[in-house]
Amino acid sequence: MTPATATLVSPGRQALDSALLQLDQAADRLHLDDGLRTMLATPRRSLTVSVPVRREDGRMDVVQGFRVQHNTTRGPAKGGIRFHPSTDIHEVTALAMWMTWKCALVGIPYGGAKGGVSVDPATLTTRELERVTRRYVNEILPIIGPDKDIPAPDVGTDEQTMAWIMDTYSVNAGYPVPGVVTGKPTTLGGSLGRAGATSRGVRIATLKAMSGSPEGRTVAVQGFGKVGAPAARYLADAGCRVVGVSDATGAVVNHSGLDVDDLRAWVEETGGVYGYRHADALSHEDLLELDVDVLVPAALEGAITAENASRVRARLIVEGANGPTTPEADRILADAGITVVPDILANAGGVIVSYLEWVQNLQACSWSAKEVDTRLRDLMEESFDAVAAMSAERGLSLRQAAHVIGVGRVAEAHRMRGLYP
Ligand code: NAD
Repeated sequence: MTPATATLVSPGRQALDSALLQLDQAADRLHLDDGLRTMLATPRRSLTVSVPVRREDGRMDVVQGFRVQHNTTRGPAKGGIRFHPSTDIHEVTALAMWMTWKCALVGIPYGGAKGGVSVDPATLTTRELERVTRRYVNEILPIIGPDKDIPAPDVGTDEQTMAWIMDTYSVNAGYPVPGVVTGKPTTLGGSLGRAGATSRGVRIATLKAMSGSPEGRTVAVQGFGKVGAPAARYLADAGCRVVGVSDATGAVVNHSGLDVDDLRAWVEETGGVYGYRHADALSHEDLLELDVDVLVPAALEGAITAENASRVRARLIVEGANGPTTPEADRILADAGITVVPDILANAGGVIVSYLEWVQNLQACSWSAKEVDTRLRDLMEESFDAVAAMSAERGLSLRQAAHVIGVGRVAEAHRMRGLYP
């Protein structure tokens, strides 16, 4: 592909190509036949909807929305909803596919799904955001439900979005259905410990992958949102020194260590890390290339590519985001001896506690934060150990091993269920 045509491929299409390549490589290792490969490469259900939204000035805009259920062989579909201007059907399909392997890898009874609306939430008022959310949910209503497909927060959405989804679904059903979404406010049946769950999982994965004590280890975090900011906090609590952080507004570095709480207060006040007083400004690219022990990409796909991978100096990369490393970058990092804890393992804490929230909703009960945290820790540690063992046994990278386990379990479920009719 020439550089001119390469730029025509959307980031979403690149993410899907990466996901398909990872599937193909796992399928080779598992000796899957062509029919099963095709089933696993193809989404079970893929819905594109138009979402008309009335703006405050009376104008009507129409944005596109998507919901993809990649696979439902092991259980109902599960996956977040993303509000981002560059979201497209390819990106949502890739993210749904990764959800399928992730749920199988950590042993929870879900298939994989993802949703998205191609809108920039920062340009909408709260009322416009509510209208977009409710109308989008209304459009995908026939395919979601606590036994069918359970959304959760992702980039650009939060517990308020989940509350609106729960309300829209419940009003249509005629009775409250808390189990239709996870990541809800606790007043509506959200689980204790869901808010920081992905980030606590990132901490568990980081400490497992690190040889020796975390004390004084340096960390850089790309993306200071729902995953990145608490991950920075938890890693600092574990004794690490968080020296660099970036978000969409900029990047900052302080080699003596950033005060994560103070930085969060600054972000709360100003809307981003840009201009933070107790640190120096840095470019987005330089943040990824800091000489640190651990790099946590926690923003979007395609952050570490063939272009910049050779300049990454971190010894360990723990993927808080989904798909932040391209397959070409993976090879360069492996050659350089850099360990990558892959997304489907490192950020699985979110879906694990989403599962625990759903179980509590179905049973109409609520567990203590301690109980939730213990289950999260057990599942993360067991999954990490299984991936590490497979990696050592078969000489695979952690990503290759995680995919062999995840894809293998879904393939096995297909075999056991057989093909109807
Ligand atoms: P979020 O919207 O809360 O935060 C995203 C952050 O990334 C923001 O701080 C934003 O400013 C920043 N960002 C955007 N572009 C950037 C760039 N070019 N450079 C640096 N920072 C940039 O989203 P989130 O929920 O924290 O999700 C982040 C990633 O984690 C996504 O890949 C998501 O799919 C994945 N993930 C999220 C969860 C969850 O529970 N929220 C669970 C598993 C995985």
